[in-house]
Amino acid sequence: MTEPAKPLNFIEQIIKKDLEEKRVNKVVTRFPPEPNGYLHIGHAKSICLNFGLAETFGGDCHLRFDDTNPVKEDMEYVEAIKRDVQWLGFQWAGEVRYASNYFDTLYEWALHLIRAGKAYVCDLNADEAREYRGTLTEPGRPSPYRERSVDENLALFEAMRAGECEEGSRSLRAKIDMASGNINLRDPVLYRIRKQHHHQTGDRWCIYPSYDFAHGQGDAIEGITHSVCTLEFADHQPLYNWFIENLPVPAKPRQYEFGRLNLNYTITSKRKLKQLVDEGFVDGWDDPRMPTIAGFRRRGYTPASLRRFCEMIGVTRSDGVVDVGMLEHAIRDDLDKNAPRAMCVLSPLKVVLTNYPEGQTESLTVPGSPNREDLPDRTLPFGREIYIDRDDFREEANKKYKRLVLGKRVRLRGAYVIEADEVVKGDDGEIALVKARYIEGTLGENPEDGIKPKGVIQWVAAHEHARFEVRLYERLFNDPEPDAGDKHFLDSINPESLTVVPDCLGEIGLNNADVGAGYQFERIGYFCRDSRAENLVFNQTISLKDSFNK
Ligand code: ATP
Ligand code: MG
Repeated sequence: MTEPAKPLNFIEQIIKKDLEEKRVNKVVTRFPPEPNGYLHIGHAKSICLNFGLAETFGGDCHLRFDDTNPVKEDMEYVEAIKRDVQWLGFQWAGEVRYASNYFDTLYEWALHLIRAGKAYVCDLNADEAREYRGTLTEPGRPSPYRERSVDENLALFEAMRAGECEEGSRSLRAKIDMASGNINLRDPVLYRIRKQHHHQTGDRWCIYPSYDFAHGQGDAIEGITHSVCTLEFADHQPLYNWFIENLPVPAKPRQYEFGRLNLNYTITSKRKLKQLVDEGFVDGWDDPRMPTIAGFRRRGYTPASLRRFCEMIGVTRSDGVVDVGMLEHAIRDDLDKNAPRAMCVLSPLKVVLTNYPEGQTESLTVPGSPNREDLPDRTLPFGREIYIDRDDFREEANKKYKRLVLGKRVRLRGAYVIEADEVVKGDDGEIALVKARYIEGTLGENPEDGIKPKGVIQWVAAHEHARFEVRLYERLFNDPEPDAGDKHFLDSINPESLTVVPDCLGEIGLNNADVGAGYQFERIGYFCRDSRAENLVFNQTISLKDSFNK
């Protein structure tokens, strides 16, 4: 066991004490996603916490799919979730587990409760059951089926299992307390009839356990010592414990709750994210604007940046809203330190260097990144014709404009100082090209005549470069709380969240960019090569400027 250097969060404190007092010998945690969508940034927090606890205390973390509702689940999601967990840098102990692995045991345990007079088959339909359940202020009323005999319940439950009952016509319920102040204890449903094919168990079952009847028991079967979940499950804890106390479980896990991650400008609900995908507001679960782990990966976020973010936000007992700027800060910080630099011109404007001999070219060498000596140098071809960004040239400008102006000088990054002489306009009145001169002897040196350039701009050679599409992203929502109160999140979708810039030019080395590898396009932002597009496409990961904490 290695002692973490940073202060322990409250769950780590509990575990440390449990180990010291020998209440547990080895920590076992689990991450229990339902395979009904892709994982989002909130899940990343839960993953970092559960796998992190196992790492910190030399224990195990299981990956267990909570697959009790075949209606909404799919193997695509199972595969995506496994990939995302591994990409974040974690490996589950042993095989992937499924709640459905335990369906036989859960069925036996349901019979156990029936025999003990602690469960009954109820024929109320969903609406009636809701009505009988009462409200937060009113106690519930007992179901008319509550006092069925053990034998009748066994026979009816068997009939449910055998497929002899209609969906929704019956359920198996625990017999606990219809007057409890905790609605979860008002005879909760243990089994529902669902005549559905299941991605793991096929057509073997037509009754499926509820989340509550499966979760804690799965924990007990797997020997989970600390079952960590989000705060909304705090009200389920008495029920969790009721099952553990009333069933012949092999171990007694305990549940602990922490505050879920909420991010401003962001939605963290699989159901709502699925709606964005299904209704075409985004281009799939891994659209770079999605707050899914797959979306962040495609956008160029690194696993380290997401883990770092989860570390920054910490683990507390209460919910709160985190500024998305903090997440952006984490990736920017990582890429600033690690990403190789490259030059890119989003809106190319040709510049002809009239004093540079026609047909002559040379190769200039620049560092891979000022922050990383281990990166190889880059080679930049240079010649008589180059492209600069249209935004970096003006015919006239005031002193604040530190780029190229007619009659003035600017330095080309990693190359010469140039001076603009003349513009040539097309029939449309637009500037078609700029005629300029390069100042000899200015590679890494200031001009001998003492007239210093105003600023530094990026450029690419006209005779040798990469050509590609760039996709610029803004936040997907304009509202900091897109789904707060009675707001509908679709109302605040940002129509300008994606800008496609075709025909950008970049330094030649970008032709060999690895998919997903991040670059700093100098003076523009951080980008990575898209993993889906057949042509060369770069996704903007994040802008250069950091507004967080400033
Ligand atoms: P969603 O509402 O997006 O469907 P969920 O809780 O239903 O989320 P699960 O697949 O059941 O999704 O979640 C797996 C685990 O991830 C659970 O333990 C859950 O508590 C945790 N989790 C889900 N959302 C968050 C969040 N925003 N912050 C922290 N943990 C989360
Ligand atoms: Mg859930």
